[in-house]
Parts: sequence; structure tokens; C-alpha cells
Amino acid sequence: MTLKKFILIITLMTTALLALETKAQASTNCISQADLNDIASHFSQFSKYTGKEFCADGSSDFQLLSSMMFMRSTAFDLNMTKSPDDFFSGKFSQDWFSYFTGRISKIKVESACPKGALAYVQAMLGLSDHVMHVCPIGLLPSFSTLDLSSTFMHEARHIDGYAHITCSKGPRAGIQGACDKVIADGGSYAVTVETYAQLAKYATALHPALKAYARASAAVYGQEAFETPISIQSKNELVLMTDSLQFLSLDPTTLATQTLGNSPSAGKIVKRASHMILIPEDKTLPGKYVFLKNQGDISQSPSDLITEYNTQTPSNKANLVDLHIGAQWTARVYKNSVRFVCDPTASTVKDISLPAGMTATNLLYVNGYDRASFSTLLSMDNGDIYEMGCANRVGYVQVSNVKFDQKYKRIYKVNDKTFGLNFNGELFSIENGKSTLLNIPTRIIEISPNQTYSFM
Ligand SMILES: [Zn+2]
Repeated sequence: MTLKKFILIITLMTTALLALETKAQASTNCISQADLNDIASHFSQFSKYTGKEFCADGSSDFQLLSSMMFMRSTAFDLNMTKSPDDFFSGKFSQDWFSYFTGRISKIKVESACPKGALAYVQAMLGLSDHVMHVCPIGLLPSFSTLDLSSTFMHEARHIDGYAHITCSKGPRAGIQGACDKVIADGGSYAVTVETYAQLAKYATALHPALKAYARASAAVYGQEAFETPISIQSKNELVLMTDSLQFLSLDPTTLATQTLGNSPSAGKIVKRASHMILIPEDKTLPGKYVFLKNQGDISQSPSDLITEYNTQTPSNKANLVDLHIGAQWTARVYKNSVRFVCDPTASTVKDISLPAGMTATNLLYVNGYDRASFSTLLSMDNGDIYEMGCANRVGYVQVSNVKFDQKYKRIYKVNDKTFGLNFNGELFSIENGKSTLLNIPTRIIEISPNQTYSFM
């Protein structure tokens, strides 16, 4: 007999945990008697809560129920037209809760799951028991009910017989169950992309920060969870943070700038796939997701690495100079060492000390921020350039032969152009190691690549 598990692999290294405080909340505080009655008519496990309203108590049951409430009550545009690309076909846009209850009849909370697993369903001889298993990382009170409702839809789709494959290439190459073949098949990852895209584009009363978060999430799964790349109408830009904390977008070709919004504080922007994380210069402040157009904050932590950071004292925080979040590896760059997690299936950590006398200052993405790449450049405070990364799942730091004609705070490649920001706040274009100053009228304190989408 073959027991088949359909596991939803979340974007690796991204377990988004722990609340920071009340900001944009996807969930309600109390669930009404009428709603509970209706949910319990589909899931008898929740009958014990009927008879009165059920208010937030930090329990996993409340989290599951809130996620179902999110599916039931999120309002969408009546007219949801298809995207011109693969983000949204509308195939799964109608009545999420009915779709879910038509396929799942019991939810079981698991106490342990493989790393990266959020939820799964099982089938034996092609028949499912219609039980959805939810893993611990999905159930901390702060894991957004928005994420869970998308997850629930993904799991429900497995009941129709759609399984995953191991990606042969791309950011998730070699990870079991982390890809579907092609989005047009309408499998579970297609559901993930479509639900997030639908929230980003068509939810009518969702907090703007949650919509921005959903937009980036649709892009992450769209770009990472398919063996055949999906069609996306997008544009790449370089985001500039000015010393007056304004975000500007810079068109890499025309070099035209446009005002976007304001940054909540000065700091470093770390990319996690399509998401942006702000690590403030002020070490009394927490790291958090940042959105470019004044959409506000969301309550979930953008990464377990940021959750860790946020618990530290200001002086410990100051020891972290940069952070790399790839699809299969992460590196915490400290002043005198680098802490690698190179195995996406385990939590093995390896610290590598920098050579004596070397102090790390920042990462440089001379080939662009690439989620699939296993290496990047690291600059020291004396301007020396090192290469670091994971080779065969083992972290390394070694001298690089790459040289620049000045010390850079940041380097990113956007399309075919390489941009560098120096410590005086000047922006340069870099070609064959030679820097040319660009005429930007204000001082720039941080740069980051960004992608915009014509659909959402
Ligand atoms: Zn799945």
C-alpha cells in the first residue's frame, strides 16, 4: 500500500513567527455564535465551542477557526477579471469556504513536522481521509490567518488528486514536494498563487499592508514553486532610501526617479525573495517587513532570523551587520563571523570566524539578489572583498578576486545594470569595476532591488 503525503513547503527559511504588536490584523477578535454553528456543521470537532461567541484565547483552535472566518468573510470585487499573465485565472476565486468544506472534514494539529512544512493531507491507494494536518509553525498565534486560509485552499486542492514534484531547477531545486510542473495544471501551488494574488488585487476591505504582503507572497510562490516558469508581467526597479527617509524608485534604464512613500526609519533593507525587511539603524527598534507606499505594518515577523534579532539587546543587535536569505540557505553576517544555515531540511548551524583583523561591513550583490544562488560577496571595513556562501551544504568564506575602485555600502544588479551606493550617500553605475557617479540630487542611505507587477 502506498501512503502518499502532500506537504506544503513554505518558502524555505521563512517561518514567519511571533507578533510584534497589534498592527494590520487578518483575524477578528471574536467569532459569533452563528458563524461557529455553521463551521461546526462542517467540522464536528468544533461543536464544543457552539452556544456562545468564541473570543481570541491564543489557542490553536481559535487560530484554525479565525482562518476559516477569514475564508468566509473576506470580501472581493464582484468582477474579478483574469490577469494578463499567470497570476490569476479566477479558477479558485469563488467561495473559498465552500471549496474547503467540500474537500476537508477534519483538521488535525500535529506536534512535529519536517522543516519548512506548514500543512499536509494524505492519501492511500488514491483515497483521502479528508483530514488536513496542520504543522506547529502554522499555528503560533501570530502566523497570519491570511497565510493559513491560502494554505487551507492549497491543501483542499490536493484532495482532487494533485501532487507535487521535486524541482529540478530554480531556487527550490532538489527540494522534495516544493514544485508543481506548470501553473496551468491548476494544482495546489497554483491555488497558493491565485489566492494570494486574489487577495492582493481584489480584496475590498483588507488592510493595505496585508494586500502588499499578499502581493509579494503571490510573486514568491509564482516565481519559485513551478518547474516551468510562469508568465509574469513585471518590471524591475531599484528602490532608493533618501536621508530624509523617502523611498524613490529608479528606472534602471532611463534613470528616472519616482516618489513612492516613506520609510518608518533609517536602516538596512534585507530581501527575502519579493519581500523587503527593514533592519533599523536604531538598535532599540525591531526588524520588520517594510512596504514602499506607506501601507503601514503587519503583525507577523518576516523571518525566524528577525524574530531572534528582535529578542536581542541593542548591543547584540549592533553585532549583526547584514543578513542573506536565499531559498535554501541563510547567513547572519556578524562583525567578526558568519553564521550559516546551509541545509534547508535541517536546522544545523555553522559559525565561521573571519580572518584576524577583518571586520565585515556588508554584502554586495554584484550579480543581483538571486534566491537560487549559493554565494554572494562580502565587503570588509578595509575594502577587502570576500566571497561567501554554501557549497555542498557547507558554509565558506574565502578571499575573492573581485575588486572595486571604491568602498561600497551596497551593490545590486538590476536587469543588466549594476548600481553601487558608497558610504557618502552617492549612487554609481558600475561597469567592469569602474564607477560612474549618477546625478541623484539627494543623499541616498540604502538601495534595494524591487519588482512591480502590472496585474496587482
Ligand atoms: Zn501541497
